[in-house]
Amino acid sequence: MPDIAKPYPVTVGGNLPTKFQGWCQAQPVIGDKCTRCLLCWVYCPDGAIRQAGQRLVVDYDYCKGCGICAHECPINVITMVEVVREQSDE
Ligand code: SF4
Ligand code: SF4
Repeated sequence: MPDIAKPYPVTVGGNLPTKFQGWCQAQPVIGDKCTRCLLCWVYCPDGAIRQAGQRLVVDYDYCKGCGICAHECPINVITMVEVVREQSDE
């Protein structure tokens, strides 16, 4: 398994990871049955999948909520969860 605990300077797909700007409507959550096959890490266009100990986690500072990881997971253990934000009075 490659060391994917830290953000890569360039993603596998060749993109420069950029920080999330607060506009996504859903975020992925990786379930406990993840086999760490790394397909989600390979496909994530923003390098937002990280290793944390023995688990894979999503770095929400970089995730854009595109859902590609959930679509590509072969055992469907990634759930896209709606982001609920409090409305501003301004
Ligand atoms: S694609 Fe699915 S099973 Fe594979 S590492 Fe990602 S979450 Fe885990
Ligand atoms: S939703 Fe998109 S940006 Fe976020 S972790 Fe999945 S593939 Fe990466």
